[in-house]
Amino acid sequence: MTLNTDYDLIVIGGGSGGLAASQRAAEYGARCLVIEREKALGGTCVNVGCVPKKVMWHAAEIAAVTSGADDYGFKLGDVSHNWGALVERRENFIARLNGIYDRNLSNKDIDRVIGTARFVGDRTVQVGDTQYQAPHVIIATGGEPVVPDLPGAELGIDSDGFFALTDRPRRVAVIGSGYIAIELAGVLNALGSEVDVFSRTDTILRSLDPMLQLSALKALVDHGVVINTHSNTQGLQQQDDGLHVTCAGAEGSDDDNGTDHGPYDTVIWAIGRRPLTADLGLDAAGVKANGRGYVEVDPFQETSAPGVYAVGDVTGHVELTPVAIAAGRRLSDRVFGGMEGRHLDYSNIPTVIFAHPPIGTVGLTEPEAIDQFGLDAVKVYISNFNPLYYGVKEHKVPASMKLVCAGDDEKIVGIHITGDGADEILQGFAVAVKMGARKVDFDDTVAIHPTSAEELVTLR
Ligand code: FAD
Ligand code: NDP
Repeated sequence: MTLNTDYDLIVIGGGSGGLAASQRAAEYGARCLVIEREKALGGTCVNVGCVPKKVMWHAAEIAAVTSGADDYGFKLGDVSHNWGALVERRENFIARLNGIYDRNLSNKDIDRVIGTARFVGDRTVQVGDTQYQAPHVIIATGGEPVVPDLPGAELGIDSDGFFALTDRPRRVAVIGSGYIAIELAGVLNALGSEVDVFSRTDTILRSLDPMLQLSALKALVDHGVVINTHSNTQGLQQQDDGLHVTCAGAEGSDDDNGTDHGPYDTVIWAIGRRPLTADLGLDAAGVKANGRGYVEVDPFQETSAPGVYAVGDVTGHVELTPVAIAAGRRLSDRVFGGMEGRHLDYSNIPTVIFAHPPIGTVGLTEPEAIDQFGLDAVKVYISNFNPLYYGVKEHKVPASMKLVCAGDDEKIVGIHITGDGADEILQGFAVAVKMGARKVDFDDTVAIHPTSAEELVTLR
């Protein structure tokens, strides 16, 4: 066994958070090592998350545009889609990104070890037969999809398996109703699959403002997706005609008791993710995790062990790429860049669900605002409309926008939007929320016409 003490910083995990933290630390002159178990750098986002998902989402959007192009005077003839060809181009693109990430590390003189790291002592990790010890260690190991312990569960795939599909499945069951379930269901439906979604509650995207839950549900149903609510999956079965999903109704509900659904070619588990900490040897380093395995951190990303930090999905705080990156960079600014007190403020983080149409949200939902400020202090402005794009089209995809305001000065504490372009619209408005904008500031801003975004500054 050799002991290597060459580094100021060891980062476990070469995903969004780990790469961002190590590169920022290296810019301050820290000697850094990144340990990544996969050959390809970039982690979940680049390889089996945001990037391949967004490519598939674009394909789905193109499908919608081409199918309605005749309303705009085009005659496209028969349009077909080659799933395999798209996947090949997508994976080539990702391979190029992997190369760029590799070069970014070498350009900053950051060393990299391919292997699975495990703590063996205070600020000491082992990979193969080498131990590495440094004054600072960042845990950025991310997470993995959950597959439940149910009969036949192994017959299904998860989001990683979705990205491995080289052909479009004809009939698909998606179990879950969070971000991943709704995004994958939308892509599959738009590219021609028959899709059934199974939600264990009476809604989908339960964490969002109720207006967005309803509009997302309506949009999916309008596109032909079957939403099975109150459906608790009991197991999967392979039968002669394909895969079957067995459900029991939710407690207190009469729906779907003991029902059988199918046949399907593919069943996708999209019931959440868990942190990759089980084999990390956290105890050996004195790092505390909570009951679900997430590493416990304070607002400065510090764990219970001095000199050991954690960023990104492994902490369970807002599992988004820009959050992992921002937390990692701020940590390195503080530890290596002398920026005392610098840390990530986890409030008012904007997020988008790449559904069809996309959904954007920042700040408090209406119920959360009422809880926090009281019913009388909250005022809500809503607009439901058909974007101008649909004026000449037969099939309309409506948009909805909501401002949640609180207090006498009507400070904007939440913005919830869905409709074409919502994904791009939200970023700028999130700046306004972060700066503490009030309704009057929106009213004082001249609209850009004709757009959907102008609705947000003309609400009455
Ligand atoms: P990761 O990116 O998961 O990186 C962790 C790395 O650590 C991995 O490369 C892993 O191999 C490595 N590792 C784990 N254990 C070890 C070990 N013991 N030793 C060495 N290496 C190890 N977020 C968005 O903001 N926008 C989106 O559109 C979006 N879409 C998504 C779509 C899907 C299908 C999924 C699954 C996620 C999506 N996310 C999205 C979430 C986003 O991918 C994550 O929040 C982000 O990747 C978290 O970064 P991280 O650095 O914490 O972890
Ligand atoms: P989510 O937390 O968004 O959703 C999990 C879903 O699984 C919920 O609908 C939940 O239901 C359901 N569920 C949980 N347990 C069960 C069960 N035993 N049986 C049936 N359903 C169950 O997790 P995801 O895995 O979809 O995504 C993980 C995270 O990744 C997201 O929270 C997000 O932060 C990030 N992400 C971001 C994206 C983006 O930015 N566009 C895209 C994809 C992922 P219930 O609502 O009833 O609890």
